[in-house]
Amino acid sequence: MVTKVLLASPRGYCAGVERAVETVEKALDLYGPPVYVRKQIVHNLHVVRDLEARGAVFVDEETEVPEGATVVFSAHGVAPSVHANAAERRLQTIDATCPLVTKVHVQARRYAAEGYTVVLIGHAGHEEVVGTMGEAPDSIVLVESVADVDRLELGTAKVAYVTQTTLSVDETGEIITALRARFPDIHAPKREDICYATSNRQWAVKEMLSEIDLLLVIGSRNSSNSNRLVEVARAGGVASYLIDDETEIDEKWMDGVDVVGVTSGASAPEKLVEGVCNWFRARGVADIEAYRLVDEDVEFRLPVELRRELALAEAQQ
Ligand code: SF4
Repeated sequence: MVTKVLLASPRGYCAGVERAVETVEKALDLYGPPVYVRKQIVHNLHVVRDLEARGAVFVDEETEVPEGATVVFSAHGVAPSVHANAAERRLQTIDATCPLVTKVHVQARRYAAEGYTVVLIGHAGHEEVVGTMGEAPDSIVLVESVADVDRLELGTAKVAYVTQTTLSVDETGEIITALRARFPDIHAPKREDICYATSNRQWAVKEMLSEIDLLLVIGSRNSSNSNRLVEVARAGGVASYLIDDETEIDEKWMDGVDVVGVTSGASAPEKLVEGVCNWFRARGVADIEAYRLVDEDVEFRLPVELRRELALAEAQQ
């Protein structure tokens, strides 16, 4: 029987997600609906539904946005070709790409311009990977595993690597070790590309694993960093499930479980954690507490193009 719920810290929204969601909200306030958003602004079903209810229209491609309309690019970043298409359609663009993703784009572009073959460690098909590869499609190769590194055939090329921001810290470490073994002169960014929020959330889960029998991760299926949290728990021998909200909890998971850990991915709003806590309260669990409290003080300013428009609107009032 569950007697206790421990809440991981830090968890939930990161600075990039805060900024991206606020960008759409402010754009809706400023221009009124509809405001188009290319792809899910962040990978969370609830966030997307809430913004849709306020008048955001989510599209897959910029080519679906009516000529001259306003479109927000999601936190995961876009390839330069997307900016070009948008310019051709005279779209007013607001780029909500997380600055930490932009940093990887800049690095990949720089390496490619200097004649490096860039190995991108990431997950095929993820929007961030598609966007980063689009910076220099002829110079970037994707690897997803150590086996992929073994298969690389790069001849005598100068080699560098960059990574997706939301990977498993441990698995990426193994891939980097394999890359260094094969390409001893490989160039690397000065600072890790896996972002602070991804690493901190994985660290927080590892810290609490010895105290819990089960970990629930609140996040959507397409949320990379949320999936990694499930993997971290399972790799540590603790059962774990990814849930969008409390309605997806299966009572059977609680068989033989005493302490449940709860965390949430970087795109999951805190109200969903409250929903899960209430699910346990409704089943008689009174002991719900934070497992350590770790503050994150990272903040990003809104996209410059939006700040400019907001300042203009304020001046006209
Ligand atoms: S998870 Fe990291 S890279 Fe992605 S939006 Fe958040 S801070 Fe930015």
